[in-house]
Amino acid sequence: MKIILVGPPASGKGTLAKFLSQDFKLPHISTGEIFRENIKNNTELGKKVKSYLDSAVLVPDEITMEVVKKRIAEKDCVNGYILDGFPRNTQQAKLFDKIVKADVAVHLDVGLKEIEDRILGRKNCSVCGRIYNTRFYKSDTCECGGKLFVRNDDNIDTIRKRYYAYEKETVPIISHYKSILKSFSGKDSPETTYQPIKEFLLKEAKKFDSKN
Ligand code: AMP
Repeated sequence: MKIILVGPPASGKGTLAKFLSQDFKLPHISTGEIFRENIKNNTELGKKVKSYLDSAVLVPDEITMEVVKKRIAEKDCVNGYILDGFPRNTQQAKLFDKIVKADVAVHLDVGLKEIEDRILGRKNCSVCGRIYNTRFYKSDTCECGGKLFVRNDDNIDTIRKRYYAYEKETVPIISHYKSILKSFSGKDSPETTYQPIKEFLLKEAKKFDSKN
């Protein structure tokens, strides 16, 4: 099953994708994560995309499409995957439609105020990718032992920019996927948010299995 997650920055897509990846045994593909990893390792791709991530604007579609095509061609994607942060605009959605038919899209609905509160307390694990909120978790070390870090683009200036970019460029894909999309409130804790989404996707997975 090919699942698309749509939602503003810091709406909880990354955490949701990790839960789904465990429960549905599907790989979690985050284009933002792929870009950050390449920047960290100073690869050719990393050099190309660094300025876009630093200034919180979208990486050009042709670069993003190549990255996604390559990733979904890998062996672990044969039974499907969870896309987090892609497609990010209608053009990417249309280009993606030409190569793949997505099965289901989940939209996490969260407003700017909540996003600002969350992002200013967000830390990511450098080893397992788990995301913590420093309001509730005070340590600098993940439960897995990895060191926690704050993303470069997690600050008040870039978060507003990223949120407005989301409203302008990404919100239109909600209607693009209306036949396969369901919206959920993402305002509560990750665990509370996850339950109805899991139930919905379990039903979708049954339909998917009976068709395939
Ligand atoms: P994210 O981790 O999804 O918040 O993405 C972080 C940054 O990576 C964004 O601000 C963009 O610069 C870039 N990015 C991630 N996914 C995409 C995409 N699908 N298209 C273009 N740029 C992207």
